[in-house]
Amino acid sequence: MNKNSSNTMALAPNTSNKRETVCIFGTGDFGRALGQKMIQSGYPVVYGSRSTQISSLIPKDAEVLGHAEAAQKAAVIIIAIQRQHYNFLTTLAEVLHGKVLVDISNNLKLNQYPESNAEYLAQLLPGSKVVKGFNTVSAWALQSGTLDASRQVFICGDDVEAKQMVMNIVRGLGLTPVDKGSLLAAQEIENYPLQLFPMWKFPIFLSLGLGLFFFFYSLALDVIHTYIYENNNFSFFIAITVPNRVFPAMALTLFGLVYLPGIFAAIIQLYRGTKYRRFPDWLDRWMLARKQLGLIALAFASLHAVFTLVTPLRAFSSWRTSRQIISQALSNETVTLDHTNAWLSDSYLAMGMLGFFLFVLLGITSLPSVSNSVNWREFRFVQSKLGYLALILCTAHAMIYGGKWFLNPSAYKWYLPDIYMLSLVVPCAVLVVKFVLIFPCVDKHLTRIRQGWERKPRYSERSNHIINKSAV
Ligand code: NAP
Repeated sequence: MNKNSSNTMALAPNTSNKRETVCIFGTGDFGRALGQKMIQSGYPVVYGSRSTQISSLIPKDAEVLGHAEAAQKAAVIIIAIQRQHYNFLTTLAEVLHGKVLVDISNNLKLNQYPESNAEYLAQLLPGSKVVKGFNTVSAWALQSGTLDASRQVFICGDDVEAKQMVMNIVRGLGLTPVDKGSLLAAQEIENYPLQLFPMWKFPIFLSLGLGLFFFFYSLALDVIHTYIYENNNFSFFIAITVPNRVFPAMALTLFGLVYLPGIFAAIIQLYRGTKYRRFPDWLDRWMLARKQLGLIALAFASLHAVFTLVTPLRAFSSWRTSRQIISQALSNETVTLDHTNAWLSDSYLAMGMLGFFLFVLLGITSLPSVSNSVNWREFRFVQSKLGYLALILCTAHAMIYGGKWFLNPSAYKWYLPDIYMLSLVVPCAVLVVKFVLIFPCVDKHLTRIRQGWERKPRYSERSNHIINKSAV
């Protein structure tokens, strides 16, 4: 059987081909780690170094030569040197002419230089073909083999053939190349390892601010007010009661904030009578953060569920129950079961559990592995229809929990509403406006706009006619 034509070619590209020698400039941490990985994958490696002395740190089977001599042995040269030392490469311009130079360098700060390191290298050596790549993989990950989180290698370059050669090497190492286009993309690829959860910044700061507000609000009303006016020291509430009032308030408010930008977008489109004008930047950014906001809301909802489960185990709960029993015994009366109350408490728990179940379902479908396996319509059905159902159930859970409490003057300590009332503001506003938006007359109008209809078309039929005539 012909080895080269077997199916294994598709599974492991180039595995049966003899590997081309790869040259690496620089025997530092990254150069050594990448060289070791290449040797393991069957590539002959030659290092170009300032010192040709073999040290025990250099991977076995690798050759170490002077830069010019090493460069002559390979078509692809990986520049594992910091950008500030690139200048010496100009002295090798002749030997590097026509070679593929792979710039793997990173910077210490975002947009540290006016041009990317790869573009700088291309300016220094215009006769070489510069490709950016490997900078998103760390030396430690290459050495330890823990590449699960970073198997993707972003590649960009102006020469298609050169880029293809580097992408084949990436595949040969068992990694996944991702073509990001021309060398113009190098700055973005260089900034990538310097970013720390860029999509999570806004949701995390918002949650922190909101969390602190709810915490001090609950602390003031549930602990400090009780201490001042009832002379009860309930400071231990800080451990479970206060968090378990903050968590559901956070979960419900953030859940409402996931759907609020969609409501704003619909109102803006209705007002403008077109979908062909950009939303304000703040709305665009908010829309992009919806998944993160939803996942943080789900985390708070889960904490609320766990904290609620421990409630019967608390000393405070058993103290309160025994106090009620003793007071009934002393007054010789038995409190009969209030069926309305029983209905309310069972319904509020049922709404909470169903809402939480749907919320978890939303969280699961937002995982890339799951969302990749459903089509766009199915994804929208879960995220929009089931999402709104989950929001309705969670809002009903908080409303029934409060019941008529909002009519009671003692619910307003220091004339302030209870925290559960505050948590209802955003979701109720979202649900009321959404209810108006799904009225057939409004919904039909909005659907037309989203299909491209414009109240004042920018390109009227008349101007189209004139354009067509002049074209003829
Ligand atoms: P390093 O340990 O400091 O090694 C850099 C190597 O460059 C040195 O070992 C030296 O090799 C050579 N060099 C130093 N000064 C030189 C000069 N004046 N002229 C010529 N060559 C010089 O750095 P590294 O961690 O390996 O990083 C190398 C590049 O890879 C950097 O651009 C970095 O941003 C990038 N990178 C690193 C990692 C990582 O995890 N370390 C990850 C992604 C990208 P010789 O002594 O053999 O000449």
